Amino acid sequence: MPIELTTLSQSSLQDYNDCPRRFELRYLQHLAYPAIETEPALENEKHQREGEHFHRLVQQYFIGIPAEQVSKQANTDNLQRWWGHFIISKDLAVLRDLPGLKTEMTLSAPLGAYRLIAKYDLIASDGGKFFIYDWKTYRKRPKSEWLAIRWQTRVYRALLVQAGAHLNGGIPIQPEQVEMVYWFSEFPNDPARFTYQSDQFKRDRDALLRFAEDIKSASNYPKTDDTTKCLYCPYRSYCNRGARAGDALDTELESEAEELFDLNFEQIGEIEF
Ligand code: SF4
Repeated sequence: MPIELTTLSQSSLQDYNDCPRRFELRYLQHLAYPAIETEPALENEKHQREGEHFHRLVQQYFIGIPAEQVSKQANTDNLQRWWGHFIISKDLAVLRDLPGLKTEMTLSAPLGAYRLIAKYDLIASDGGKFFIYDWKTYRKRPKSEWLAIRWQTRVYRALLVQAGAHLNGGIPIQPEQVEMVYWFSEFPNDPARFTYQSDQFKRDRDALLRFAEDIKSASNYPKTDDTTKCLYCPYRSYCNRGARAGDALDTELESEAEELFDLNFEQIGEIEF
């Protein structure tokens, strides 16, 4: 029995975009993953856990815990390497001195019949601009063109404009004040940066509303025609789209852990639009 959906996130929008059937299985039927996502599964799982751990280390650093203390928790080879890359980055070190730092912050705003919700790794402001930082522990540096069209890049910037006025003394944030930065722990000198413009914001807002209407009125959820999406999909066995998984490096780009269930709704800042 499908459960009524009340929120949308970059992950659910991306799933609906990539394959409505996957959206249905994950967000309406709440089906647990029936298949091992990739081979070798254990290695992949370990990498995912380390990625979550790395996010916690960075969060501790930005809330003011001394770097020496945080570094003691980097207790695997990967974590030590990522943390080493992070801590020598001059660009990131200066962020800690900025007054307007928000870590692991959730923003939300109404979107048609839903609430659009996003959890940010870090929002930093120098008083004029607002920088959205997202930490990625990918083993492969994705192309910037690929990131530019992801729903995450569009949703995170649009939602900060829409629902971030309380971070700006009550004054709405203008799109031109926003920049999103993906920082890659394996590629510390090659972050992907995306500025924002008013026409992009308008385009994103319109597209989000249209997408929300589509989702609301959907009565069936077809499987994607693009069977390459199935290679990385944990629901393959439900769809007769092959038992063997695709390559783990590609999988981590295609499917990211949904963190909505961890959201603390008291942290949510919201304005109507
Ligand atoms: S296996 Fe393919 S068709 Fe089935 S949910 Fe996944 S992406 Fe969609």
